[in-house]
Amino acid sequence: MDEVNLQKAEEVLKKYWGYESFREGQKMAIQSVLEGKDTLVLFPTGGGKSLCYQVPSLMLDGLTVVLSPLVALMQDQVEHLKKIGIRATFINSTLPGYEVEQRLVNARNGMYKMLYIAPERLSTNLWKVEEPNLNIKLVAIDEAHCISEWGHDFRPAYRNIREELSNTPEETRWIALTATATPEVRKDLLEVLKFENPATITSGFKRENLHWWVTESENKQKVLKKSVQKAAKLGSGIVYASTRRDCNHWADWFNKTGVKSEPYHAGLASDQRKTVQHAWVEGSLPLVVATNAFGMGIDKADCRFVIHHTMPFSLESYYQEAGRAGRDGKVSYPVLLFKKSDIDYLENRIKQSYPDYETLQKVYNALCDELDLAVGSEHEEPDTVSFSNVARRIAITEGRLNTALHLLQRLGLLHLVELREPRVGIKFIASPDYLLDFVNNAEPKKGEFLDKLYRMLGPQSVHEFIYMRESVLVNKLEVTSRQLQKALNVFSGYDQILQYKWQGETHLVQIAEARMKKLQIDHKSAYQYKDVLLKKLEYMARYAVTSECREVFLRTYFGETDCKPCGNCDNCRAKSKRDVSISNRDLEKIIGYLAEGDKSAREIAEHTGWTSEKLKKAVSYMVREEMIVVNEGNTESYRLRIR
Ligand code: ADP
Ligand code: MG
Repeated sequence: MDEVNLQKAEEVLKKYWGYESFREGQKMAIQSVLEGKDTLVLFPTGGGKSLCYQVPSLMLDGLTVVLSPLVALMQDQVEHLKKIGIRATFINSTLPGYEVEQRLVNARNGMYKMLYIAPERLSTNLWKVEEPNLNIKLVAIDEAHCISEWGHDFRPAYRNIREELSNTPEETRWIALTATATPEVRKDLLEVLKFENPATITSGFKRENLHWWVTESENKQKVLKKSVQKAAKLGSGIVYASTRRDCNHWADWFNKTGVKSEPYHAGLASDQRKTVQHAWVEGSLPLVVATNAFGMGIDKADCRFVIHHTMPFSLESYYQEAGRAGRDGKVSYPVLLFKKSDIDYLENRIKQSYPDYETLQKVYNALCDELDLAVGSEHEEPDTVSFSNVARRIAITEGRLNTALHLLQRLGLLHLVELREPRVGIKFIASPDYLLDFVNNAEPKKGEFLDKLYRMLGPQSVHEFIYMRESVLVNKLEVTSRQLQKALNVFSGYDQILQYKWQGETHLVQIAEARMKKLQIDHKSAYQYKDVLLKKLEYMARYAVTSECREVFLRTYFGETDCKPCGNCDNCRAKSKRDVSISNRDLEKIIGYLAEGDKSAREIAEHTGWTSEKLKKAVSYMVREEMIVVNEGNTESYRLRIR
C-alpha cells in the first residue's frame, strides 16, 4: 500500500475503532483489496478478519455487500458497527418484505456503507430489482468455507454468490474470508468464486498461548469432573457436550460442586440464551456447558479453557471451537476428552445420514405424490408439504426423511426453504386500477384495510405471491389472526381480487425439474460428500491418538509446512519429561534386551544398571507409546509389542 493509503487506513482504524495499529496480515489484506485484487483472507478465529473488509469499505466511495451465513452473527456485527458510528444494515429471512424493501431503498440512496445479507436472499426478486441501483464497490464473503463441501458448514446458496452478483460492475472488488484453510477448501473456494490471480493472505494457524491437551479415558465423566475442577481455578471456560440433556445435566452438576455454570443449547428460549451468553462474556458466569450452537461470533478475550466432552466430526470444527480459548494471548487450555468408541459412534452417525438410492427414490416419489405432481409435469412454485404425511406414506422416521430431503437438495433435485413462523402469501389478481376503484367505493373500514394491505405488499404483489409473517400482517393491520383470515377469505372468495396461501411453521418445498419417473442422480456426487466427512473424521481421530506435537498436527492439516513442535502440548510435555533422563539409545537398550524374550523389571534393572526412577520412567513411557506391553497376570514382566 502506498504511504498515503496506509496512513488513511490507519486513520480510519483509529477514528472508528480506537486501535493503534493493524496486525501484519490485516495490513496486507487491506492493501490487496485497495489495489483491486481478488483477495482470500485466511486467519484463524479471532484473527481479526472483519477489519479486512470493514476498513476498505469506509475508504471506498459506495456500498459494501457482506455475505454472512448466520442471522445472529449479522445482527451482532451491524449493531456493533452502528455503535461506533458506521452506517450499516442487514437483510435476512427474519425481516418482513416491506422492511427489506425499505432498507434496499435506503441503500440505493447511499444511506449505508455496509449491507449484510444472507446468500439465500440474493435470489429473491426484491434484491434482483434493486441490485443494479446499489453502487456496489466491494463484495465481502465472510465464513467463505460455507462455499465448499470440504468446509464444515456447507451452504448450497454460497455456491451461487458469484452468479447472483454477476451484474456488479467490473471494478467491484471481491474479498473472501475464512478460518478454514485446508488445501481442498482453498481450491474449491477460488474456483467457485472465479477469483483471478488472487492474493491469498494468511497469518498462520499458530496459537502460541494455547496448550493443546488430549485425555483418553474410558471414564470420561470422571475425567471431566476433574478437568473442570482444575480448569475453573484459571478463570472462565466452556464445556462442549453433544446433547441438550448432557448440557443440562452437567451444568447442574458443576453448580452443585461449586462452579457456577449454565447450560446453553437450541432448546432454550432465545432470551435465556442471550442472558447466558451475556453473563459469560461479561464474567459473572464462569462456565457454560453448551452444544456447538454456542460461540460463533461471540467475542470474549479471557476464556481460559475449552473442554470437549464429545469429539467433533472434524478438525475444522474442533479448531474453531477450541480456538475460542485465549484470544487475549494468555496461556489457555483446549482439552479434548476421548475414548476409542467415540470414533465408531461418529462414523455411524455419518453413515446413517446417507440414505441409499432406493430410499431417495421412495422419498422423492412420496413427496411428489403428496404434492399431487404427476410424472413429467413441472412444479410451478414452492409449496408447503406435510413431512409427517410423506414419512407415513413410506413408513420411515421423520429423522431419516429429513436426511434424505437434504441429500436430494444437495443434489439439486429440490429446494427447501425454511420458514420460522406462520406466513401468509398474497397475490392480487385484480388490476391496480380496479383495486383503486374498489378501495374508494367499498365501505370505509374495508377500503382502508385493503389500501393498507396493498401498500404493505407493494406493486410486485400483482405479479407474484408476496409472503409475509402472519405476526407482522396482524400487527400492522391491527387485526387478530382470525380477523385477518376472514378478511382474506372474503377478498379471495366473494370479491375475487386476490389469492392467498397460509403457511404454518414448516418448510416450503420446490421440486427443481419436471417429475422424473426414475431419479437421475450422479452417484459420485451423491456419496462423495459422505466420503469427505469420513475422511475428516479420520483426521480428527488421528489428532486424538497422535504422539506428535498437537499444534504441528493441526497446522499441517490446515496446509502449513515446516512447523516446529510447540513445546507446550501434552505430547511435547511428555516428550521433554522423558528427554531429561532417557535418550533413544536408552530405549534401544531395552528393546534389544526384550528382543531376546520377556523380562521382568528386576532383570531389566540388572541388565541396564539404571536407578529405579529412571527405569520406571523409561518403562512407563514405552508402555504409553505402545512399544512394549505388560504381560497379563504378571505386572512384573514385559514384552515387546512387535517382535
Ligand atoms: P475473526 O472474524 O477473524 O474471528 P474478528 O474480526 O471478529 O475476528 O476480530 C476478533 C477481535 O480482535 C475483535 O475483538 C476485534 O476488535 C479485535 N481486533 C481485530 N483487529 C485488531 C487490531 N488491529 N487491534 C486490536 N484489536 C483488533
Ligand atoms: Mg469473523
